[in-house]
Amino acid sequence: MNSLLTAVSVPEDRGRPILDAATREVVGYAPVHTVDELAAAISAAAAAQPGWADLGHAERSRLLHVIADDIDACAEELGEIITHEQGKAGGAGETHAAAHWLRAAADTVLQPQVLQDDGASRAELHYVPLGVVASIGPWNFPVMIAVWHLAPALRMGNTVVLKPSENTPLSVLALAEIFRRHLPADVLTAISGDREVGAALAAHPRIAKIVFTGSTATGRRIVAGSAGNLARLTLELGGNDAAIVLPDTDVDAVADKLFWAAFMNTGQVCAALKRLYVHESIYADVVSALAERAEKAPMGPGSDKANRLGPVQNPAQFEIVTRLVADARERGARIVTGGEPATELGPLFYRPTIVADVEDDAAVVGEEQFGPVLPVIRYAEVDDAIRRANSTDQGLGASVWGPDPDKAEAVARRMEAGTVWVNQHGGVDPAIPFGGTKSSGYGLEFGVEGLKAMAATKVIRR
Ligand code: NAD
Repeated sequence: MNSLLTAVSVPEDRGRPILDAATREVVGYAPVHTVDELAAAISAAAAAQPGWADLGHAERSRLLHVIADDIDACAEELGEIITHEQGKAGGAGETHAAAHWLRAAADTVLQPQVLQDDGASRAELHYVPLGVVASIGPWNFPVMIAVWHLAPALRMGNTVVLKPSENTPLSVLALAEIFRRHLPADVLTAISGDREVGAALAAHPRIAKIVFTGSTATGRRIVAGSAGNLARLTLELGGNDAAIVLPDTDVDAVADKLFWAAFMNTGQVCAALKRLYVHESIYADVVSALAERAEKAPMGPGSDKANRLGPVQNPAQFEIVTRLVADARERGARIVTGGEPATELGPLFYRPTIVADVEDDAAVVGEEQFGPVLPVIRYAEVDDAIRRANSTDQGLGASVWGPDPDKAEAVARRMEAGTVWVNQHGGVDPAIPFGGTKSSGYGLEFGVEGLKAMAATKVIRR
């Protein structure tokens, strides 16, 4: 019996069924909080905030460490919920990663800055709490992304009302349960509801800051919805990351990294490699190396830890993946491997798919697939590849691959994205700021910049 699941799941007649992504069996029942319950949670969070701020940085950091230890201690139980609800084999791994990020935020120091001190006058810039922060999250890394929001917000003395994705609420409610064991009352409240509750949270007059990770379409709605409260925004939105593989790249040396940059978490990663531009001289070799890996990658329910690929998390995303591959096929692109559901594994499994000889105007290139499909696109001139890679309104991540890191970096500097990796793609680090450009959002998470994003500035002059 999973005691965390028991603690957060409500009786069937009071909740919404949450299905196992792989088997489509009921995992548990998520509470359906109302907009009135949301309003009560926000009022309580506002009342609790001054006391939480008064505890000071050292005590808040200490408590966050205690919580991180508890998250690690619960890794198997929490990981099991993630695995069932989200589908990934690495549920416990996501949990340990969340604890790691929480400790990093607890240990990051943001000092006031002395702006002027010339004997006659002194000016200092201080970072002070904002108030109540709203956190709205997605379903691909439900627990880790919740911690990305919570850790800096709480560290800086804010209280938080958190709304998980309606697709993966149970793991986030369980995470909040662990936090609440150690926090003063009402410092963190998780509200489980649908888009309507998310919209009411974003628009509520007592919300001072919204940190949102999700699609660009929802990000736009949140910007509009927060016109009234003028909440500050951190928007981590969709991505359609391009990678450019330069001529002379050693295909064997990079094939594994390219494959997993695209297919980690079954492609359901904001900064996954989603469009691969390969020089014509090595195009055929890259396509066959990726197809070979796609055919060998173990796929199945995450409850079997040997599996590296799982189901698509929900039917709507499965439909997107199916539509994009069908469109590519109709346009005459070559489906090198995959291109069909793996129905023998369960209703939402889709075979890892490599699409070759595909043009830029195909939907699988122009739209974010967020699933186990990678279009591989041929180019002849590097300048042309850069232009095509940049010709999207998304700008989350990008990468450049080649034998000479300096030459690759020169190309990386010309790519339009919040992070550009060289000979790697998608890696994030708690000390290194992460955020998008263009329609992939604005604001930074992680490190000192992440703490600043959860604070108001106050200048003191004398
Ligand atoms: P989504 O936008 O459909 O939903 C995200 C959250 O927003 C959910 O909790 C949902 O209930 C809530 N929501 C929906 N409508 C709302 C509204 N009008 N007001 C307030 N909240 C509302 O996204 P998703 O399908 O859960 O996640 C997938 C997307 O997230 C992909 O585009 C992916 O690229 C992106 N993503 C980005 C990052 C990043 O760091 N940039 C990380 C992970 C995922």
